Amino acid sequence: MKNLKLNKIILFLSITILFAISELRAAEKSGPNVIVILTDDQGYGDVGFNGCTDIPTPNIDRIANNGVKFTNGYVTYAVCGPSRAGLITGRYQDRFGFGRNPLLAPNDPGEGLPLSEETMATVLNKSGYKSMALGKWHLGAHRSQWPLNRGFDEFFGFLSGGHQYFPELWTLQNLSEIKGQWDGYKTKLMHNNGRVEEQEYLTDALSREAVSFVEKQAGGSPFFMYLAYNAPHAPMQATEKYLKRFNHIKDEKRRTYAAMVSAVDDGVGLLLNKLEELKIDDNTIVFFLSDNGGPEDHNASDNGPLREGKSSLYEGGIHVPFAMQWPGHVPAGMVYNHPVISLDIMATAVALANAGTKNPLDGVNLIPYLKGEKQGIPHKELFWRKYDQDWHAVRSKDYKMLRRGESDTEWYNLSKDISEKNELAKAEMKDPEEMLMAHDNWLSEMKDPVFWGLMQGGEYNKKHPSRFSIPSPLRIDSTPPQIPAGYELLWAEEFDQPGKPDEKYWSYENGFVRNNELQWYQPDNAMVKNGKLVIEGKREEVRNPNYNKKSENWRENRKYAEYTSASINTKEKFTFQYGIMEVRARVDTSMGSWPAIWTLGAERRWPEKGEVDVMEYYRHDGIPKILANAAWGNEKNYRPVWDSARVPLSSFLQKDPAWPEKFHVWKMVWNENVIQLYLDEVLLNEIDLEKATYSDGFNPFRQPHYILLNLALGSNGGDPSNTQFPLKYEVDYVRIYQRKSN
Ligand code: CA
Repeated sequence: MKNLKLNKIILFLSITILFAISELRAAEKSGPNVIVILTDDQGYGDVGFNGCTDIPTPNIDRIANNGVKFTNGYVTYAVCGPSRAGLITGRYQDRFGFGRNPLLAPNDPGEGLPLSEETMATVLNKSGYKSMALGKWHLGAHRSQWPLNRGFDEFFGFLSGGHQYFPELWTLQNLSEIKGQWDGYKTKLMHNNGRVEEQEYLTDALSREAVSFVEKQAGGSPFFMYLAYNAPHAPMQATEKYLKRFNHIKDEKRRTYAAMVSAVDDGVGLLLNKLEELKIDDNTIVFFLSDNGGPEDHNASDNGPLREGKSSLYEGGIHVPFAMQWPGHVPAGMVYNHPVISLDIMATAVALANAGTKNPLDGVNLIPYLKGEKQGIPHKELFWRKYDQDWHAVRSKDYKMLRRGESDTEWYNLSKDISEKNELAKAEMKDPEEMLMAHDNWLSEMKDPVFWGLMQGGEYNKKHPSRFSIPSPLRIDSTPPQIPAGYELLWAEEFDQPGKPDEKYWSYENGFVRNNELQWYQPDNAMVKNGKLVIEGKREEVRNPNYNKKSENWRENRKYAEYTSASINTKEKFTFQYGIMEVRARVDTSMGSWPAIWTLGAERRWPEKGEVDVMEYYRHDGIPKILANAAWGNEKNYRPVWDSARVPLSSFLQKDPAWPEKFHVWKMVWNENVIQLYLDEVLLNEIDLEKATYSDGFNPFRQPHYILLNLALGSNGGDPSNTQFPLKYEVDYVRIYQRKSN
């Protein structure tokens, strides 16, 4: 007995110590605030710290003077979209198929940052950071891609690749009013997921909101701010306040450009002043860079000594003004000459915040190099690819290789020839074969583009004639009916476009799929009619093309299927994590019918991936029942573990004999701790999610899930041979709400 008591005391002490340690770890976790100031299409030579003389940038220069000027600072691409995708994920964007500038396509969840990727905001949020994105987004216009759905807590700006600067030119309410790619420049600005009435010049409005966010956050949790000015990207528009500073510049375009840069510089000044005033400047890392080189002819920018400009893989396209400060931690007035890249920003922030990433990063934590704790160079090689042009570049130490296709290569020594004027013979290069091999290795890890780009707009429009017609106002930022308090609509499938289910969201299962069911799944049996998805179960014979009499697999040893039906799902097209899913549907309760509304986890195999059956109707012990379940993996025997609720259909029929003829609302309420399943507001099952955590820490219900709607026949549904066909399973809508962030 005594021993037992002692054991208990020891256990108690150990737990107390464990708690103390974990609290200590939590405190250690809090890294510095991170601010990334990104300008758009600004030339390498257009900042004071790189020698600009006609446009003073005293505030941007403050960053370099307070900290480091990077003389070989790069971005990952020569135009806006892919460069931003690299910066915000810390990974070469070609790893996830972002090799093109995305089209503005608010109906298309695939036209933007793939959901497999975590943004810097998502990752820093794990360490308690609050994040705000400001200005140009350009990483996807579909609602699932909006900043608040990609890890940010707040957003002020616009979704398109550019924008008009004057409020009187913001003539469109939102994306539902756009008729073409460039109409995105004319919408009202967004604050979070809604639209605001803004009166200020765009650059000034962004600066004001940035300062206000810092004020709000100071003293609270650490913050990450992504301040993506669209200046000095075209259209060339500036107010008199800034224009009059540049009367000495005769060229009108250069004068406007200078004014636009000057407005950014004022904003940077306000922000730095605020950090100092709040005494948080030594706890805040500030990065400044441009998203690509200047398009000199287009906006009158100046890339200094660098060859070519925006969209080129010569230095002028990818080598940008780049500086950072972290007073008290990184020496002031430093000049750092080794190549660094925008990917390093996330790697640095994540390392300082002790945050873990799902995907490996390509960047390097720069702080040990800047403090002199680490010698050598951060990157052995840097790589660039322009997929559609089959144009590539590699930088290795002083040397650069440009490559078009397999054989056409150019070589330069940038330490002697930053302007890439004197092409070297391969024999004059140091380790050219090593560079070629490194490039081939890198390429083998890259993915082809996963969406059409700006250059394929015509082709895209042919394939997507309804690109700019928003089929359901619910999918865009208008107010849907009956949103639960504290929530907002993330996604809605209203099934209001007659024809096939919208292929942007829905895919089909085909043939014999699972559970020895009798039906042959085929797309023909799913149609949208009268505002509803109708899945029909039919008695019709389909020859099994995989028939093999000798096979032991039931999918192969049946010569025919006697029934057909359909099963649709949003796999790889739409997923969500947490929130409320609401589905209004009518089920066929005939013998043999097994309809379902369910979700599956995006990662791992079944059952480890996790399954939620929001609704199933089938026969259990011969009795027709409505079921509400979750299933996950059992690590001991690889079989599913079930948490099921089964309610006999008779209990619904007692209350309402017409129950089967009516539509009902099934609902899943999901947060990281619990899933609750409701039918017509009655709670049927509540699943504690902690019990599904595996020994490696993975929990199948703490990951995104996709949606499935299907009508199976036979198997658990019972024998349909005496049932009158067709059977009809109808779904009126699927709506997903998520909690509003404050
Ligand atoms: Ca740009």
